Order: sequence, then structure tokens, then C-alpha cells
Amino acid sequence: MSKGNIGVTSDNIFPVIKKFLYSDHEIFLRELISNAVDATTKLKTLSSVGEVKGDLGDLRVRVSIDKAKKTLTVSDRGIGMTAEEVDKFINQIAFSGAEEFLNQYKDKAEAIIGHFGLGFYSAFMVSKKVEIFSQSYKEDAKAVHWSCEGSPEYTMEDTIKAERGTDIVLHIDDEFSQYLEDATIEGLLKKYCKFLPVEIAFGKKKDWKDGKQVELDEENIINDTTPAWTRKPSELTDEDYDKFYHELYPTQFEEPLFHIHLNVDYPFNLTGILYFPKIKSNLDVHRNKIQLYCNQVYVTDEVENIVPEYLTLLHGVIDSPDIPLNVSRSYLQSDNNVKKISGYITKKVADKLAELYKADKDEFAKKWDDIKMFIQFGMLTDEKFYEKAKDFALYKNLDGKYATLEEYKAQVKEAQTDKDGNLVLLYTNDPDAHYTYIERAKAKGYDVLLMDGELDVHCMSQAENKSMSQAEDGEKGLRFVRIDSDTIENLIRKEDTAKDSYSDEQKEGLRKAFEAFLPQGAEKLNYYVTCEAAAADALPVFLTQNEFMRRMKEMSAHQQGMSFYGQMPDQYNLVVNTNHPLIQELVGKETSEEVQEEVEKDGKKETVVKTVYSLANEDERLKQLIDIALLASGQLKGEALAKFVNRSVELL
Ligand code: ADP
Repeated sequence: MSKGNIGVTSDNIFPVIKKFLYSDHEIFLRELISNAVDATTKLKTLSSVGEVKGDLGDLRVRVSIDKAKKTLTVSDRGIGMTAEEVDKFINQIAFSGAEEFLNQYKDKAEAIIGHFGLGFYSAFMVSKKVEIFSQSYKEDAKAVHWSCEGSPEYTMEDTIKAERGTDIVLHIDDEFSQYLEDATIEGLLKKYCKFLPVEIAFGKKKDWKDGKQVELDEENIINDTTPAWTRKPSELTDEDYDKFYHELYPTQFEEPLFHIHLNVDYPFNLTGILYFPKIKSNLDVHRNKIQLYCNQVYVTDEVENIVPEYLTLLHGVIDSPDIPLNVSRSYLQSDNNVKKISGYITKKVADKLAELYKADKDEFAKKWDDIKMFIQFGMLTDEKFYEKAKDFALYKNLDGKYATLEEYKAQVKEAQTDKDGNLVLLYTNDPDAHYTYIERAKAKGYDVLLMDGELDVHCMSQAENKSMSQAEDGEKGLRFVRIDSDTIENLIRKEDTAKDSYSDEQKEGLRKAFEAFLPQGAEKLNYYVTCEAAAADALPVFLTQNEFMRRMKEMSAHQQGMSFYGQMPDQYNLVVNTNHPLIQELVGKETSEEVQEEVEKDGKKETVVKTVYSLANEDERLKQLIDIALLASGQLKGEALAKFVNRSVELL
């Protein structure tokens, strides 16, 4: 037996290892099993080049718990280590690697992706003693037993071991007794080892017999050694992809919409499968996440700094040994490989969508509502994605027909270009509420888009900005206007717009009279009155809401730095249609009266003179007209609605 001090400078790094990553000490199991799998893969490689002769036999990695001895053992049948190798790899290299790692990261451990790099010594996070029993594949090599109790001192001696390979025996610390529970270990194995390339066995398979659980002879294999992403797309059917999706997310019952198989080996190595999920609601979005693997070892499902944010809405796996895992998250984004990987994924996703769109436009349109949020998010946040996506991003009209923006523009160009050459696209976010406005637009032969998605307002603004900066010769501006934002005549102004023959004074009198009866009191709600020459068969009085102000308010809800708009009151225009016969009857009937009113000012009573406008004997009719406008926009409620109903009955 020999004794020695492991090659570290600091006296004792074990207390540090124990405290380190306290919340994440479970990664020790992943590290040990990765080593076991590596040792097995190395043996297979040596065998394939003829350096190891004969049949390799059983190569399973086994994990077992001995409750009486309080040990957890990871055994492999890999290449094993000789005494010299244990000295070199464990005493010198592994230890100094661990020390370096700790010195570098002890203050910012959380920031390191998946806490890779600690390796073998992470075993000391949960153990009071660790033993290695190893038999090298090399002929004439003696088996070695290494033992260390958590101080820099170790012992090493010859031993007898029947099988080739390595057993790592952890004597679990009392405070970590959960790692002696079958359920805990099985859970961790399922999390980290589900897709490792070498079979991992843990206990025996169980079955139910006569209402009792019984152990079968067969070993319980944790992993699928050839998960779909490691296979060639040509070998896989759609069913295989769907099956793998459910393997990844056992609690997800919905089928994915489609998948993208990623596979590159130059200038970086990356494989994976991304799925477009059916997103039912915003809540669903982040329930299942993309999982990151490194050579089939699970690392993390927090891929935010590795793929663009909008791609984090997808599901699936990415496996790459070229993503640096022992660096802080903030460093990741500036890493060149990560940038390239992110760029590659973006391109692949965009190309796949373009291909699906080209292959079957109707089929693509059917899926549009499910993938729309994701594509719009990408277009708004990633210029490169926008450039590709604009050719398959769809707009849907009220008849349920889909078209790309270019197609749609061509369809409505003739009818909806105004007298200045601007193309005006009409939309609604609520067809029921905007029914009367929509009817008027349709009567004029206009088309109306349905824009009720959460990102629609942002996308419309983006399309407008792009059309301004990219307008080709002869093409004027593109504007989206919500159907209730003005009279239809004003939304798309034509040469022959209706006019009226009233003087400014007459209109001002009319305006003031209506103003006197505007609804009062509601906070954050402002009404203004304007007189407009709309069509004679439009409503006599109706509400509109300025597109710009409303849109700014809507956008401010999602964007920082725009709260100024969010605090503005909702503003509505009460449009008095001077071409309507009912209104024409009122012109010229306005009267004004000066009344004296007592007001309190600075504690003193004062008498002021106020001008009160009205339309001789027409006040009831005025109220009725205003209420009709409010009613048509769904704004007449409560007491005001009751008054309207009563007034209507009286009028009848
Ligand atoms: P890393 O795996 O990152 O190299 P580790 O500290 O986990 O660092 O392991 C150090 C070295 O010890 C490995 O590179 C390997 O050569 C050797 N080793 C560890 N575990 C085993 C094992 N189960 N079988 C054979 N060699 C092993």
C-alpha cells in the first residue's frame, strides 16, 4: 500500500467542493457516469482499430445502491486504469483540474452552464469517502484500489478485480442520504442519462402482479442509446420523430406541428431536432423547453444565451460538443462558436419554413395560427430571420383567407389606394365590436384583415417602417388602419370624397351643441367632437379612435420606455356626419344662453358667466344620437344604457 498527497497546492479543497454548487450537487452522478461512458467508448474505439483483441462482452454501465453500507456505486466495463494511470489521471490531473476550476469559479458558480468541468472530484460533494477499484484492459496490469476520505491524503494498493473496468464507490455523507434512495437516483438518471450512448442499468425491471409490484429478472435500462437526433434523417419516419418528441416530453400529449433535423460537422459540430409545438396559450409556451446535450449527456434546458430568444419557444434537443460549458452565461453570447451555431439554427429554421410554405401553401396556412406568434416574434427581433420570413409570413382576412403581405397588397391595391397613392390596409381586432364599421368598408368593396394576435400591432408597425425604407419606384407608403379609427371616407381618401355645404360657424355651433352632452366622468376616457362629411347612409353620429394614439398605447403595454403613452387617456372622436339627413335637420337650430353660476375659488364664492349651448328643443334627440354612437361601439353601459332604453321607449 502506498500513501501520498494529491497534487494540490491548497491544503484542502474538499470543504470547498462540498459547499460548491450546493443546490446543484446532484451533477456528481452525471460526471461519474460520463466518465464511465467515456471509458467504454474508448474501449470500443481501441477494439475497432484492433488494439483490444477478442469479444468485449457485456459493456453496460451499472449504478447500484447498498443501503446497509451507505454506498452508491457506478461500475463500468471500459478501459479501466492501471495504478500509474490512477496516479496520473486522478491524483495529478483530475485534482489540479478541479482546483483550477474551483479557484476560477467559486464566486460565480451559478453562472456556469451545467457546471461542467469539475469531473471526478464532484463525487466529494456528497461523499465522506470515495474508492476506486479498477482493472485496466492492458495485459498483465494489476487491479488497483484507491481510497480517499476527503483530505488531500489518499491510499493506493493492489487488489483483485475479476472484471475489466472501474467501480467508483461513494460512501454517501449522512446529510446527503437522499442519494441512497432508489427514486432519487432513478430520477437523476432519467434527467441526465436518458440518451447516453452506452446502456445504463439501474436495478431490475418491475411489473405489477396480483396487485403487487414484483421485480423481474431483466435489468432496468434507463436510456435510449440511439435517440432520433443521432440517426440519419433518411432512416427516420414522421412517426419516429413524433415518438421521440413524446420521449423527450412524457407529459406532452399534443403532437408537434413539424420538425427540423439539424446536422452539421463543419465549422462546428451540432446535431439536434427542433419541433414546432402547438402553442395553445401563452402559459404553455415555456412549459417544455429545448434541451441542450453534449455528446448525448444532458446539460441544461436553459438555452437562452445559445439560441435567439424567439427560438426558445421551440421544443426539441440540441447536441454540440462545441458549446463551451464551463464558462459563464454572460460570456457565452460573445463566443464565436455560439454565434455561428445560433446563426445556423436561425437559417435552418427559416429555410424549413420557406420549404414547407412552398411545398403546400394551403397546408402551411392551416398551421399558421399555431406558429404565427413564434414567426412574428422572430421577425420583430431578428433582422436576418425577417428577411426570410417576410416571404411566408401570412395575413388573414375576415373570410379566413391567407396571403403574404406582397400577395395581399396586390389583391387590394386597386380598391384601397388613396388619392395620394398610399396603400391603406384595413384591419379589425374584434369583428363583433366593429361590425358596423366592417359593413361600411365591405359596402365600399374594401377588404378587412383580422389582426387579433398579441404581436400584430408590432408587426404592422414593422411592415409600415420597412415599406417606407424599401419602397420601390412609384410605390408610396403603406398604412394599416383599424376599421374604427376614422370614417371610412377618411380612412381611404378618394378624389370624389363627399363634401357638405355648411359654413365653419354652422359646424362649430353643431359641434358645441353635441359637446354639451358628451358622456362625463369616466376617467382615462376623452371624447372630442368633429363634424365630417361622411356618406349619407352612414350613421348620423359615430365614434372613431385615432390609429396612432391607440397603437402607441397598445405597444407601450409590451415595451419599456413607452409608458408615457400608456398613461394617456383613451381618446375617441365623436364624428357628426353632416351629410346625414338627421344632422342636416339640426343645422342652424343651435342657441346659446349666458347663465350665471356660483363657483368657489380660493375659499371665496364667485359668480361667473357661462355660455350654455343647445339645439332648440332638440336636446333629447342629441342625447339619443350620442348614445346610438356609443352603443354602436359597445361603450354604452350601466345607467347610461338604461337611460337610453327608457328614452327610446318614450320617443316611440
Ligand atoms: P475529465 O473526465 O474531464 O477528463 P475527470 O476528473 O472526470 O476529468 O477524470 C480524469 C481522468 O480520469 C479522465 O480523463 C480519465 O482518463 C480518468 N477516468 C475517470 N473515470 C474513469 C473511468 N471510469 N474509467 C477509466 N478512466 C477514468
